[in-house]
Amino acid sequence: MAAKRDYYEILGVDKNASQDDIKKAYRKMAKECHPDLHPNDKNAEARFKELNEANEVLSDPEKRARYDRFGHDDPMGGAGGAGFQGGFDFGGFGGVDDIFSQLFGGSMGSAQRRNAPMRGNDIQIELNLTFEEAAFGCKKSFEFTRNEICDTCHGSGAKPGTQPKTCSTCKGMGRVRVNGGFMMMERTCSVCGGTGKVIADKCPTCGGSGRKKARRTCSFDVPAGVDTGNYRTFRGDGEPGRNGGPNGDLQVVFNVKPHKLFRRDGTTVYLEMPISFTQAALGADIDVPTLGGGKTSYHIPEGTQNDTQFRLRGEGIQQLRSSGRGDMILTVRVEIPKRLNEKQKDLLRQFEAATTGKEYEGRKSFADKIKEIFN
Ligand SMILES: [Zn+2]
Ligand SMILES: [Zn+2]
Repeated sequence: MAAKRDYYEILGVDKNASQDDIKKAYRKMAKECHPDLHPNDKNAEARFKELNEANEVLSDPEKRARYDRFGHDDPMGGAGGAGFQGGFDFGGFGGVDDIFSQLFGGSMGSAQRRNAPMRGNDIQIELNLTFEEAAFGCKKSFEFTRNEICDTCHGSGAKPGTQPKTCSTCKGMGRVRVNGGFMMMERTCSVCGGTGKVIADKCPTCGGSGRKKARRTCSFDVPAGVDTGNYRTFRGDGEPGRNGGPNGDLQVVFNVKPHKLFRRDGTTVYLEMPISFTQAALGADIDVPTLGGGKTSYHIPEGTQNDTQFRLRGEGIQQLRSSGRGDMILTVRVEIPKRLNEKQKDLLRQFEAATTGKEYEGRKSFADKIKEIFN
């Protein structure tokens, strides 16, 4: 979508234009680009629509004031109205917070919301696994850093024996009212940072934050079959909540490293394996490497062509939380020998002399086609 044009620009008026000027400008332009005067002109139709939209906003002092402040991003304008409800309970959305208190006149404003219980942040950790660890499962242990409640002040931020005081600037509301020109607006109180409380004697351990950084170890069993992008959630092991809110979660996202031999798609494992041209021609029992580092014998039939795929049942990856196992898709690459000695070359010349032409299906049908076309 193209960027939306500025409403003042559309109407061709100055930002300080009076309501009268706007009305006049709209009338003049509406006459010029009215669709009735430009039948079948899509451009004129679009311009007329744009013009009406600009007029609708700028001719209404309240809408105009919001447009001056927020531009096209006004959450009250158009479809945006519904969008900003999502996730509101967690607060701390900065600018959006201001809009919220403005819409609701501060009656249920953010002051209470700021002091309301807030869930702690989630922590996301990426955990690297080898191909085999993911395929067969493993025990994993890793360290991570998180904020925790300070032991000395139990999260209040005040020196033991003292209490945080109610902020006198905002009277504990965390918000102050300011004149925003067109209307009264609320802002976060700069004295207390929105908490509604001021700490006179700060806790010596955390310096008043009520938090401390802690290094933690997490150990758990990774189930067999996990793949890149799978994750495990540890409820409540994230950052601590505020004002008695619940802790966030610790989320461990798996990242499976590639393997030198095998490739994986879900529970299917892919393996490319070179075989000799005599094995391909005569058929052979070949040793196919398997996931656990072992091997399994597999019979390649005679006359196997290059790039033929074979399915080895149950040699793939275990399904997550199930006993089933995927398959292995084996692709054979027929290798033509290089650096043959004279004896070997002689044997191949004897072989070539003994062929009748029927041995090579592809060559035979190609020769038949040539005959058809040119004879
Ligand atoms: Zn403390
Ligand atoms: Zn305050």
